[in-house]
Amino acid sequence: MTQIVIIGAGPTGLTLAMLLAQRGIAVKLIEASRSFRRIFRGEALMPSGLDAIEQMGLSDVVTKIPHRAIDAWEFYIENRPIFRVDEPMESSGQPCTLVSQPALLEAVLKKVNECENFEFIQGAAVRDLLWHSERVAGIRLSDGQEIAADLVIGADGRNSIVRQQAQLELVQAPQSFDILWFKLPTSPTFQKENVFYSVLRGQNAFGVFQGSEGNLQVGWSLNRENPISLKEGSANDWQKVDWAEKLAAAAPDWLANHFRAQKETMERPLLLSIVVGRCPQWHLPGVLLLGDAAHPMSPIRAQGINMALRDVMVATNHLVPVLQQPANLAAIDLALAQIQAERQPEIIEIQRLQQAEVAQAELMHSYPILRHAVSRLAPIIGSQIRKSWLDRQLQLRQGFTKVHLKV
Ligand SMILES: Cc1cc2nc3c(=O)[nH]c(=O)nc-3n(C[C@H](O)[C@H](O)[C@H](O)COP(=O)(O)OP(=O)(O)OC[C@H]3O[C@@H](n4cnc5c(N)ncnc54)[C@H](O)[C@@H]3O)c2cc1C
Repeated sequence: MTQIVIIGAGPTGLTLAMLLAQRGIAVKLIEASRSFRRIFRGEALMPSGLDAIEQMGLSDVVTKIPHRAIDAWEFYIENRPIFRVDEPMESSGQPCTLVSQPALLEAVLKKVNECENFEFIQGAAVRDLLWHSERVAGIRLSDGQEIAADLVIGADGRNSIVRQQAQLELVQAPQSFDILWFKLPTSPTFQKENVFYSVLRGQNAFGVFQGSEGNLQVGWSLNRENPISLKEGSANDWQKVDWAEKLAAAAPDWLANHFRAQKETMERPLLLSIVVGRCPQWHLPGVLLLGDAAHPMSPIRAQGINMALRDVMVATNHLVPVLQQPANLAAIDLALAQIQAERQPEIIEIQRLQQAEVAQAELMHSYPILRHAVSRLAPIIGSQIRKSWLDRQLQLRQGFTKVHLKV
């Protein structure tokens, strides 16, 4: 039987392992971390991701784990509301939904564990690739153990060791910001209605919403040019900032009161550095990169998990017919090129749209006069800004191409 080894049990690796194993393919899945409660990596699923979840037969799973739909999106500039859009938005049937990622990964693992041809190796990091002539023939773990494979799939995220060992180049897009992530107790306002607020005041910008597990989550944009320094020990070190006060000073009054009231319960923020880019080539004979390993996504408008799930459906369509035949390495390698050719156009387009969203925010960030004008004129021009924003969201919600799981 053809043996597949997948590296990384994030959204990409686990769902791919499930789809392949359910179709009779022998799969070994290797995950370095011992728990799915790893560093926070987002939990918003757009309609495109929810559609993938449905096609994968996981909709019932989502209803049984912590999840919460977004009810609306609202934008504030200089302490004034600019516009609001209710979910689900016009042309999409499903609201953007926050789904607990650890719970989703655990539930998918439970499903795939029912397949006899599946093996999960947890708490083991892959260190390098094994080669046979010019073809990847397996992996070596950090304890020296070797595992042979007819195909290795790198689903090991943005710092992919598989990508590095295969010497597949990652072309990075310049990024102007990192994110500080805060969790704090929620407020009745968000319990009643889960609005995703985007707030811009002076040089400060953040987004806030109630997460799937009921706490309030805040992503503060830490501009790399910002006076708040990433350098530990410097006078303006981000770790020394009074964040409850900093957030309150940027927030509308009703929210500022909540931040101040939660000063003691607020956890220290996590610094999440943003890597965005894509590989010109996702594969070599015997190895394929998928998800963030092939194209690390920006957190802007929650695209990474959605794109990863769509990569997985396309990979399944191309791989299963080949893998269900007696081992044919040339046919496997041909399928790898077809997977990249089908997925790449959407990834390029979605990363371009995310970059356009960042450019809009940077424009506002850079020109105080523009912020002032937009905030004062909101009652007059708010509906046009709203329409322009809505038009830009369509593909970020639905995807750029149609993706169907066919096998
Ligand atoms: C701050 C932030 C917020 C985000 N918010 C959202 C959001 O709301 N919605 C959304 O769709 N996307 C979001 N994203 C993007 C999203 O998190 C990623 O695109 C997505 O996680 C990619 O999934 P993946 O499975 O390809 O990689 P990952 O989720 O990174 O999983 C890779 C897995 O590989 C394992 N691994 C790594 N190296 C090895 C090794 N050597 N050996 C074995 N295992 C290894 C890791 O432990 C990990 O479990 C966000 C990203 C950031 C940074």
